[in-house]
Amino acid sequence: MFPTTIAGSLPKPGWLAETHKLWPRWKAEGEALQEAKADATLLWIKMQEDAGLDVLTDGEQSRQHFVHGFLEQVEGIDFAHKVEMGIRNDRYKAMVPQVVGPLRLKGRVHAAEARLARAHTQRKLKFTLPGPMTIVDTVADRFYGDRVKLAHAFAELLNQEARALEADGVDVIQFDEPAFNVYMKEAAEWGVQALERAVQGLTCTTAVHICYGYGIQANNDWKKSLGEQWRQYEQVFPALAASSIRQVSLECIHSHVPPELMALLKGKDVLVGVIDVASDVVETPQEVADTIGRALQFVPRERLFACTNCGMAPMDREVALKKLEALARGAALAREKYGR
Ligand code: ZN
Repeated sequence: MFPTTIAGSLPKPGWLAETHKLWPRWKAEGEALQEAKADATLLWIKMQEDAGLDVLTDGEQSRQHFVHGFLEQVEGIDFAHKVEMGIRNDRYKAMVPQVVGPLRLKGRVHAAEARLARAHTQRKLKFTLPGPMTIVDTVADRFYGDRVKLAHAFAELLNQEARALEADGVDVIQFDEPAFNVYMKEAAEWGVQALERAVQGLTCTTAVHICYGYGIQANNDWKKSLGEQWRQYEQVFPALAASSIRQVSLECIHSHVPPELMALLKGKDVLVGVIDVASDVVETPQEVADTIGRALQFVPRERLFACTNCGMAPMDREVALKKLEALARGAALAREKYGR
């Protein structure tokens, strides 16, 4: 009951990359960088196991950013000439690569870290990929000229990599779609469809993570503008409930999401955010258990997973580690409290 997992990313150690940044610069290059990424991956596998988590990730230690890490292996993308673009409906500016030709994978994207992680843990392994709609919102398109077409082109490539990850022994493949909370109408109209293309033929567990973004200033300011009740999920969840995606990861603790919206995800596993990634204050096990208790009013207990609200990449490493421990202890306490 109440298996624990995280949204995906974890802070990079100071010897691997700049700390406390969303787009950190690597501290090494070439072979030394590959070795450092592998070491950091193993470190976090061990830390997640020690904290007591059930479904582990590679902590996204091998990618600079959750979207651009994938794009680096895609032909048809010009990384040499990045342009500044307002992303997530102009919430913040980012330097993004340009789509300049037909998209094709140059080869495997995440084979090294997936196989490494698989070889070093017996626990379930989850692997995260950016969702098609969020990718479309994080590149400058100079070729396709149509967001839906571009999303499907990316979805095909994601599917190719996802099938390979499944063959590598990954148990869960999760697509991150923060853009679903920004373009709700489009998400319901074609975002979920593009996602279906990305999971086509997979037999492993599939998941989607939808959030209000990392705990960075631009996102914190945006959240303040969203009013008393955040009802973005209400527009997208019915389309997801009707989809083949099995798990939905969402924000809960300290958010203004009305918890009853979780009831819209009938038939799905719900990964409830019980750890706030926008605050350095570590949750107590009691708080975590209380959040699980609130979610239980709307999610059957056998479908409830305890998770973080979002990725932890820009956080302080020590704080992140304490939060992983709080997550596991809180879920354990909830099992005592709400177990039969
Ligand atoms: Zn997120």
